[in-house]
Amino acid sequence: MKNLFLSTIAAVALAACAQQSSGELTKSDPVETSTTEVAVDLDPTVERLIEIASNGTHGYDITRDLTTEIGPRLAGSPGEARARDWTVERFKALGFENVRIEPFSVPRWERGEEFAEIISPSPQQLYITALGGSVATPEGGIEAKIAYFPSFEDLESAPEGGLDGKIVFISGRMKKAHDGAGYGPANKKRQKGASEAAKRGAAAVVIRSVGTDSHRFPHTGQMRYDADLPKIPIGALSAPDADQLERLLENGEDITLRLTLTPQYGGELPSGNVIGEIVGSEKPEEIIVIGGHLDSWDLGTGAIDDGAGIGITAGAAQVLLEAGLKPKRTIRIVAFGAEEIGLLGGYAYVDQHLDNLHNHVLASESDFGAERVYAVRSSVQGEARKDIYNIQKQIAHLGIEMEEGQTHGGPDIIPMFAKGVPAIRLQQDGTDYFDLHHTPDDTFDKINPEAMAQNVAAWAAMIWLASESDADFRALPAASE
Ligand SMILES: [Zn+2]
Repeated sequence: MKNLFLSTIAAVALAACAQQSSGELTKSDPVETSTTEVAVDLDPTVERLIEIASNGTHGYDITRDLTTEIGPRLAGSPGEARARDWTVERFKALGFENVRIEPFSVPRWERGEEFAEIISPSPQQLYITALGGSVATPEGGIEAKIAYFPSFEDLESAPEGGLDGKIVFISGRMKKAHDGAGYGPANKKRQKGASEAAKRGAAAVVIRSVGTDSHRFPHTGQMRYDADLPKIPIGALSAPDADQLERLLENGEDITLRLTLTPQYGGELPSGNVIGEIVGSEKPEEIIVIGGHLDSWDLGTGAIDDGAGIGITAGAAQVLLEAGLKPKRTIRIVAFGAEEIGLLGGYAYVDQHLDNLHNHVLASESDFGAERVYAVRSSVQGEARKDIYNIQKQIAHLGIEMEEGQTHGGPDIIPMFAKGVPAIRLQQDGTDYFDLHHTPDDTFDKINPEAMAQNVAAWAAMIWLASESDADFRALPAASE
């Protein structure tokens, strides 16, 4: 028996910024919305999947166990290695087939001591953390006067030279947004701050954390060096500590800071992607890739980033099996390694599957926390886009709209998307995501089980419908005009 469900479908674009996650680009689209009332036949199989997921704790349980039994999972670390073995066992227990690890190696970087203090005029300790990839301070640390830049753009437009031996302090606040649109602009200082300061002769850099909270936890995250410039150490201060420096600067004070960061680096360490599958019954060679990233930063236990993504996607596949369904296409669940330090798992996946990427029909990663899904985005074009609209219609009653605009499917999907694999993304509410992101506060207690179950329901419906669809998601639209 079919239900008739009246759903409101937002047909065109929201004022769109691409969902921000590690490495994501910002994209502005024209604003245009229209709303149509459409009668939708709800698919009874999808209704059953949604019911199982909504009444279950599939994603929640996987995320709880991963973050509790393993804890932090820095790329290349023993924690990440244990997480791979844990995931192999869990994927087998869930009933996935062809469970395996695809190894690759990553550059070694391990956190050391981290300490910052104001020496003058008001001696006191500050809360700081080294950014991933940062070099160490010289023996005994660095003691120097601060050169203050209210934003990264202020540093970028400063004349060359003139900062000899100084510790550059880059502030600039990140704006909260449901789609994380503030992340890209705020993140420039984290990624490029060290080299921009080194270009002008600085000895070290401290930045205001890239985050939206006011807690005394600094946010870590990967930084990059320009190969042609000296490598100088860089750390992030918690927001209240950055405020503290700014108040002293407002008083017109000359601030002397002492900074000690002792990360270890050099050489290579093992990492890997863990893969499990539900092999397709009719078109096993056609692959739908879903997943999250298994690595996390070392400060927290990586619950929202990205234990939740592993839980949501593996939990959704689990729901299909629990419903006794056998999808037509193969659902491949990938727990990517080493995302945080540069999408290395995503690139390794493409290297290792280059010969077969043409059989990858759709790909998506969950990597934006565990809050509710509010929209579907997809790069699928032409005729096949009707089937993407159908996916959205079938989950519209979960509060999920269609959002026009481009997506690359998530950070670890970027490398395969760049090789022509179509992407879909279930956009999550990330309003509070950057309160916790890359801090010691990214822990399991922050996850809301009801929102998590909504995610799992939406993902289960999406992968089932994508598997059952006869559409060729890879097909490009016929040329118009
Ligand atoms: Zn992530």
